[in-house]
Amino acid sequence: MNKQIFYKLNQLFVEDVAVSEITNGLRTPFYVYSRTVIEENFGRFKKSLEGLDSIICYSVKANSNLSVLETIAKLGGGADVVSLGEYKRALRAGIDPKKIVFSGVGKQDFEIAEILRSSLLQFNIESVSELEMIHKIAIRLNKQAPIAFRVNPDIDAGTHENISTGKADNKFGIPIADAKEIYQYASKLSKIKIVGIDVHIGSQISDLNAFRQTFVNLEKLIYDLKNINIKLENIDIGGGLGIKYTDDDLEPDLQKYGTLVKQILGNLNCRIIFEPGRYIVGNSGILVTKVLHNKKSQNKSFLITDAGMNDFSRTALYGAVHRLIPLSKGKIQKTELYDVVGPVCETTDTFLKNYPVAKAEAGDFFAFLDVGAYGAVLSSEYNTRPLIPEIMVYKNRFEIVRSRPTYDEIFDKEVMPKWE
Ligand SMILES: *Cc1c(COP(=O)(O)O)cnc(C)c1O
Repeated sequence: MNKQIFYKLNQLFVEDVAVSEITNGLRTPFYVYSRTVIEENFGRFKKSLEGLDSIICYSVKANSNLSVLETIAKLGGGADVVSLGEYKRALRAGIDPKKIVFSGVGKQDFEIAEILRSSLLQFNIESVSELEMIHKIAIRLNKQAPIAFRVNPDIDAGTHENISTGKADNKFGIPIADAKEIYQYASKLSKIKIVGIDVHIGSQISDLNAFRQTFVNLEKLIYDLKNINIKLENIDIGGGLGIKYTDDDLEPDLQKYGTLVKQILGNLNCRIIFEPGRYIVGNSGILVTKVLHNKKSQNKSFLITDAGMNDFSRTALYGAVHRLIPLSKGKIQKTELYDVVGPVCETTDTFLKNYPVAKAEAGDFFAFLDVGAYGAVLSSEYNTRPLIPEIMVYKNRFEIVRSRPTYDEIFDKEVMPKWE
């Protein structure tokens, strides 16, 4: 837990708001975010880069709620977007388009055209085919397209295989060995303006050596490019810094990370772009849920929560472990080993297995911790469970920043064709 999410008189608070105050007026499950935590994380990240010409392009896919993006905008942050939808969100939240990078392995022509017609910092290109697509559109619109290539440095980030992106057999980027040749080709295209280079090796990384090796490879390539007269303005080194979810996780040292970047890439006369997602929002959020049933089988105790894998899927997707704590602590806290499961009709709808949790009865409220990143954004309406609300807290105030749709709003998007 961090100092904005804490117990006061045995009641769980987010900043100066008792979470029970929210459950009094709003049906669970729902997400709650602390704006102050986002501000503090952003501030700490920025501070570790002191002295560096840098720009923090928050990775919108981690949590794209407009209230989160607006917080980032106010702090002077930019955005890393992977779709036109995310780009439009960033603009609506007040993020400067000149601070937006457009990433993603499968950009579509309508997305490229609209963003190029508007404005951006750079396209992070992942293939020659994409380069040619962007060039064609740039000719049609008579615009210079600012681009960087995402190179795949063939580095094992030492993270879960479903969130590793920098190995040669991942789908991301162009092989670093081909980069020189591809840059040379791009430099001959009239409407392409080479402005940078980009790398992103994965997520939830704690081992700084993976970053070090990546930066070293990048530095070498930048010199090689300089030698053939290709000069870069921006070095985009992606996101990927991990956070501590449980005591089993190592926390990368942010200060050391900053020093590493400065040492290896700080003297190349380039601006460094960072794309942190999880680090900025991960520990800002909790998922508030109610125990529906407490069920015992022969050798197991199950807690069945009203939150399911459709509301929060990191466990089903990555085997992620998130601690579960009660909104109201007993005077003498007893724990029991539980399997904590959701109500969705899937066996993977399991949050914790044989895990110590405060002893619970049906009707008790709990909170999963550290769900601010890759939580709400990955939710779905599977089992026709409406998307759950998101709440933002700031000091002693809170506001519903995404409301729960009604059933009719869900059904109104569907039609029954009258073909008979
Ligand atoms: C997902 C992603 C990020 C953010 O990763 P985090 O681990 O959340 O910091 C940054 N850049 C790119 C290209 C991504 O795909």
